[in-house]
Amino acid sequence: MTGFDRREVDKTLYDDISGATERLFSVTGDLKDESSIHKAFNDAKSRFGPVQILVANAGITDESTHTAIWDLSVELWDSVNTTNVRGTFLTIKHFLQQVRDVQASTNNELENVSIVVTGSETGVFGQEYHAEYATGKAGLQYGLVKTVKNEIVRLNAKARINAVAPGWVNTPLIGDRLDDPRELWAEAQATVALKKIAQPEDVARCMAFLASHRTAGHITGQCISVDGGQEGRLLWKEEQVLSAAKAQRSGTSHSTSMPAELEPPKRARRMRICLSVDFDAISGYLGTGHTPENTLADYSAGIFSANVGVGRLLRLFAKHGISDKLTWFIPGHSMDTFPEQTAAVVASGAEIGLHGYSHEGAYAMTVEQEKDVLEKCIDLATKLKDGKRPVGYRAPLYQIRETTVKLLQEHDFLYDSSMNAHDSLPYYLPRPFPGQPPHVPDYNQPAASWMKPTALPQQPVVGTAEADTAMIEIPGSWYTEDMTPLGFYPYTASTQGYVSVDVVEKIWWDRFDWLWENESWLDEGPGEGYGSIYPMIWHPESSGRNHIVGMIDRFIGKLVTRMKAAGSGEITFETMESVAKSWKSR
Ligand SMILES: [Zn+2]
Repeated sequence: MTGFDRREVDKTLYDDISGATERLFSVTGDLKDESSIHKAFNDAKSRFGPVQILVANAGITDESTHTAIWDLSVELWDSVNTTNVRGTFLTIKHFLQQVRDVQASTNNELENVSIVVTGSETGVFGQEYHAEYATGKAGLQYGLVKTVKNEIVRLNAKARINAVAPGWVNTPLIGDRLDDPRELWAEAQATVALKKIAQPEDVARCMAFLASHRTAGHITGQCISVDGGQEGRLLWKEEQVLSAAKAQRSGTSHSTSMPAELEPPKRARRMRICLSVDFDAISGYLGTGHTPENTLADYSAGIFSANVGVGRLLRLFAKHGISDKLTWFIPGHSMDTFPEQTAAVVASGAEIGLHGYSHEGAYAMTVEQEKDVLEKCIDLATKLKDGKRPVGYRAPLYQIRETTVKLLQEHDFLYDSSMNAHDSLPYYLPRPFPGQPPHVPDYNQPAASWMKPTALPQQPVVGTAEADTAMIEIPGSWYTEDMTPLGFYPYTASTQGYVSVDVVEKIWWDRFDWLWENESWLDEGPGEGYGSIYPMIWHPESSGRNHIVGMIDRFIGKLVTRMKAAGSGEITFETMESVAKSWKSR
């Protein structure tokens, strides 16, 4: 065992150990001097034979000063590390040289060749103001031990090297440092599970354990902490924290770990979700949906819509708390044929919009017929809503024409939702209808007769009288509804029905996500100052069916989740009336 102690060993300390005086042999040398170390091993070998176990225990520092690294002198750094690091290196070097020489001369491997290096918990946790010491100990207990572990077995197949890293040990080197109970608390109790400092025997027993092949023969390259379960050291002592708290009350605070300047700039977004339901029921088979082949079975699907689909959707909207934040477009025929279901829709608080009487297509009617249908339905809806006239209209099967818009304007409608010159922003009607129908080629005429552009009027400017009196168009199309992919009409070639709801749900989310990421910013893009809208058209006859309604439930649930995750007021569910008003007043 090597140590840094210039005093002679007091052998009387071991009088009660049988034969200690004969068995204890000390050699004085200088760890800074390689020849001195070499001589020490030779002296030991000549007394007992080859040395098999080395405990390399060099560890000095200057405890009289505590110096930050920017003030640390090269002399102190060199002095400490010459002894601790270079001294340990030379000790191991000459220990193993004599192992090598003995084995070469006897042609036999020595028994129980092992090295234990004294490391330190300062090598684990560092030691403030003693970089020279902590650095050297870390180098020894990790870098040196793990390297020599792999080299030593080339020399002796069972040879091992380990380190012990003690925390505070009760030796005279501590001096009076821990006499102060608060100092003892801070250094050796506050962060130590066993709440005490080690006795030298605690460290020595661990070293004896590691030194023996019999007890630790399969342990090598390890650094074992003998520190009572230390977790680290306090950086701020009790009184330092208490005095700092006092200072904070009267002055600066540093409670945030990230400077305010690094917060991402807050850019506001806006998305208005305007869900709608077209309560077509039987009317869907009377007007635009009429074919001579329609059978009793086909009409029964219209009855399903009213008797089953409407109730399912109403309960679902109530569950998600959006019943009064969406719009039902109800044909007059459904109001008259299914008064109970219609009353339930009205009672839900939803907005009621018009949708023809028998789901008539505008192009099939005279203007007079269009007017009669519209006025009849206004009357029906107004009675339903206790005198409140409907302000929204959706043309059955999107069959709207210039005369329809004119009629709606004459009856003070606020908005229509049948066209798609945009897909996620409202715009003004009657523009951008062309002043004249587009020129269709007549191939019996010279080409020059049809090669003409279509004149499209510009949208009125916000704030002008024209804009104030214009109707609003809230886009609706085959792409924003459920029937296109999920409905099936046996006599209409373009309808499908057998489509996975997952595919449809994904299409709807693709719409939402793209708009949210690209066109909902209030400070830039097409929605600058307004954001974007998300119109949707569902039908009880398809969305109310038991293989679809679960997806509708899930979809609305996710929309609500997105609303809650967004900034306050960024995403809202709104009736189309509310959306149209917000566009007018923007
Ligand atoms: Zn319809």
